[in-house]
Amino acid sequence: MTDLEGPSSPSDPRASLRKRVFVVGAGLMGTGIAAQSALAGYAVTLEDVNPELVGRGLDRVKKTLDHAVRRGKVAPDAKETAVQSIDTAIGLRRVDTAQIVVEAAPESLDLKRGLFREIEAAADPQALLASNTSSLPITSIASVLQDPGRLVGIHFFNPVLQMELVEVIPGHRTRPEVVQAAEKFARDLGKTVVHSTDSPGFVTTRALGVLVNEAAWMLSEGVSTREEIDTAYKLGFHHPMGPFELADLVGLDTLLSILDVLWDGFRDPKYRACPLLRRLVEAGKLGRKSGEGFYSYPPREGLAGAS
Ligand code: NAD
Repeated sequence: MTDLEGPSSPSDPRASLRKRVFVVGAGLMGTGIAAQSALAGYAVTLEDVNPELVGRGLDRVKKTLDHAVRRGKVAPDAKETAVQSIDTAIGLRRVDTAQIVVEAAPESLDLKRGLFREIEAAADPQALLASNTSSLPITSIASVLQDPGRLVGIHFFNPVLQMELVEVIPGHRTRPEVVQAAEKFARDLGKTVVHSTDSPGFVTTRALGVLVNEAAWMLSEGVSTREEIDTAYKLGFHHPMGPFELADLVGLDTLLSILDVLWDGFRDPKYRACPLLRRLVEAGKLGRKSGEGFYSYPPREGLAGAS
């Protein structure tokens, strides 16, 4: 495995020697991971499938960083340096320039397997390959690779800049040095690492799926209103957000995929997705990212609020 020591400083004159992180998927998580990696001094390539999506992703990165500057969490010049550290790509052609590849494409096993097949074929053989999947077994994704020992789960949380936790998940064949490199990368980004075995939903997503799903069942049974259920979770459990606010932030499509993975993995009825959640996804009501989910969001709030 390549020398995966930390990045050089963003102002390092040998900037071309900086470690490069290639982020696959410029959505909610990919943009957060790109922003956080750039702030930590890595060079970053943010990739998606077409120019419009990449452009939108880069705008989101800038908005995320602006938001962090307004909150006093990032100095204005650090933000400028970070923005300049990020370039964009359409497709995986330039993945070979990176020492770390983090995949943050939608939560679909087939999609992720296809992507990692392509990534393995094109990437530097020494590069760290990581998936930001929130629920899919790393072993299942890695099963299509020539070298399944290269892949590790690095599960960031949303919003990436604000959330301190990262779960590191070795698949059954992941090599120890790959796990160590993943831990080092997460710590370089200022995160606290917890480990999970390759169990469906790991530690956090398994709990999240049940928490939101139960709220959706209560809403559809008329137990209480959407606002009151949110208030009950916030004031009753000191949760910073209610389950519907959280669902809208995470993305209803992502949550539905998570529940389906938990159902497939455990065959336990407690993971059966509430039909209300499925209907909302089918209606394109995906949460903040589509402007409507359990709640509605005016266009500007929909983007900025998720960053
Ligand atoms: P998202 O829908 O916001 O973004 C996914 C991005 O991937 C989109 O921009 C899409 O255009 C792009 N994409 C689709 N096909 C692609 C391909 N073939 N190659 C490259 N890019 C492609 O989703 P998200 O919420 O950012 O989730 C991404 C991953 O992160 C999922 O695995 C999800 O489970 C995980 N995750 C999500 C959250 C969350 O709160 N949303 C938290 C932790 C982990």
